[in-house]
Amino acid sequence: MRCLTLCLLLACAALSVEAAPVAIAIHGGAGTITRTQLEPQLEAQYREVLDHAVSYGHAQLQLGVSGEDVVVAVVQLLEDSPLFNAGRGAVMTWEGRHELDASIMRGGDLRAGAVASVTTIKSPIAAAQAVMNQSVHVLLSSTGAEQFARSQGLEMVENEYFSTARRREAWKRFHERQQGQTQFTRDANEKMGTVGVVVLDTEGHVYAGTSTGGMTGKRWGRIGDSPIIGAGTYANDHSCAVSATGHGEFFIRYGVARDICARVQYLGLSVLESAEQVVNQDLSEAGADGGVIALDPEGHVAMVFNTEGMYRASIDASGNKIVAIYKE
Ligand code: ASP
Repeated sequence: MRCLTLCLLLACAALSVEAAPVAIAIHGGAGTITRTQLEPQLEAQYREVLDHAVSYGHAQLQLGVSGEDVVVAVVQLLEDSPLFNAGRGAVMTWEGRHELDASIMRGGDLRAGAVASVTTIKSPIAAAQAVMNQSVHVLLSSTGAEQFARSQGLEMVENEYFSTARRREAWKRFHERQQGQTQFTRDANEKMGTVGVVVLDTEGHVYAGTSTGGMTGKRWGRIGDSPIIGAGTYANDHSCAVSATGHGEFFIRYGVARDICARVQYLGLSVLESAEQVVNQDLSEAGADGGVIALDPEGHVAMVFNTEGMYRASIDASGNKIVAIYKE
């Protein structure tokens, strides 16, 4: 009898210890992505990669892996996929090369790391992580960042490694459009593809990471919002974690990622309300296209964009899973 009581007590104790909530959201860029433009086969490929990446990240979080490691691992899955404008598959600069940007931020202590305009680091997000953990700096650029990455033992590749036929075509179309233009023009049909990940781990910390090739035809060492802490990436345990994608110049000017978290912290808005205000009101009024993924320390997820589509996926703290591309 005594043994039975003990067993019952142990079973009750086990049931009352609830697993710490975890959550994850990922994006693969926002832009003019419509059902008619995206061939079914390609759409299926996008969905498969998004599904795999979000499920993998979520499983790692449930195992208790730190949010930092999960952000890096999931961003790397997307960097390695030629479908996205990050790592292999990155868009081309004016000259037909690749210059990559990435950043990562830790919500627990506001540490952050970033690299900009790097051309030979295989995984820019790994370099951003190394800047955060192994240097006293936040943002390293160009050849200096590459020297640092090499000193950290990170894998280096030829610039050619990042090229794909699809991006070369986009680059050719870009230059055809540019003929006789003095202004930099953007093709509304150009699908973007920056990647980003935000997570809540079992320790209750939020993290954000973003990686990109920037914008097709960029030149003069142009750097977008993705490696700018507060613009394309931000994380703070007191508010939220955000990764952005879209027309970087506006995201820098509007301090988008930090603004979303500030509204959560100071105005008491939910992460969804805040992201909607910033993206659908402020950015839309400014004529800026793009979107964000965000989550708070309770594991509420928001994925908001003002374009026709955004490659995205999430699993919130209640276990609800979404894999989506279009507005739906
Ligand atoms: N935000 C990126 C940049 O401006 C591009 C993108 O997200 O599509 O470099």
